[in-house]
Amino acid sequence: MPKWFSETLHPSVRQTLKIKEILYSGKTPFQKVQILNTEQFGKVLVLDGVIQTTEKDEFIYHEMMTQVPLFSHPNPRRVLVIGGGDGGIVREILKHPIEEVYLVEIDEQVMTLSKKYLRAICKGAFKDSRTRVRVEDGAQFITEQTDPFDIVMIDSTDPIGPAKVLFSKKFYQGIKRILNPAGILVRQTGSTVFQPNEWMGNYHQLKGFFSQVHPFVIAVPTYIGGFFSLVFASDQIDPRALDLTMLKARYGELQLKTRYYNPEIHQSCFRLPEYMKSRLLVEEMSQNAVNSTP
Ligand code: SAM
Repeated sequence: MPKWFSETLHPSVRQTLKIKEILYSGKTPFQKVQILNTEQFGKVLVLDGVIQTTEKDEFIYHEMMTQVPLFSHPNPRRVLVIGGGDGGIVREILKHPIEEVYLVEIDEQVMTLSKKYLRAICKGAFKDSRTRVRVEDGAQFITEQTDPFDIVMIDSTDPIGPAKVLFSKKFYQGIKRILNPAGILVRQTGSTVFQPNEWMGNYHQLKGFFSQVHPFVIAVPTYIGGFFSLVFASDQIDPRALDLTMLKARYGELQLKTRYYNPEIHQSCFRLPEYMKSRLLVEEMSQNAVNSTP
């Protein structure tokens, strides 16, 4: 009798995967962890019933969360990743000549299990001499920082459990404080169809701290619900205004291997469908109304 896993992220929609083998299932002090070997997507990391990343489609999210800010920044040297315990984000960052990348993951067991079962995703990310791993709450870590970062990537779980603090105004205030003036923040903000309040809520929050806030979209098979949204925030960099020739030159220079990101997609991912643009327009108008009220 085949076994099936049903994801419980969305209250009224479920995606179900056929399982070949349950490689691991257990509880950590922070969450339930499952690592499943599935027919369609290979090995899958599940936290508290929510699919985090899969061997077959992880490259889409991990490349777009990293290559877009790394190629948008003129010279990224210090990068901070909050969450990211599967190592996929750090793997992509290390393709660039950065000085150091901090990985701040609250749950050490996620990293231990990823190194054991998900080597196809983390590869050598945890072993690289430029990687600095900290087992800590990201919200706490940023309060202790004095040296600024060029890019902060928030690769957390959804705003439930330990990740809730990573969606607060206070947290964004702290991120702003530890970013260089030309710094960039990127984070995932959920399905544009099933979680509209998540991407709009984070957009609204970030507009309070950064002058350049731009949602961008990707298509990830296991992040169900149409376009999946990420958001780019900076004071000095508009990622949509970057010259394609310059992006192509930098991309060519590094000769890095990607399977989803390329300079053309860097530009097109910020072109949004009407159902998102219209919500942003309403947000802008309400912001202007607030700002113009004496
Ligand atoms: N790529 C996935 C996604 O798109 O949802 C996320 C991957 S990663 C496994 C998410 C990680 O965030 C988890 O390992 C979790 O332990 C970590 N996390 C949650 N809250 C955190 C916090 N406050 N500080 C640091 N890490 C946190």
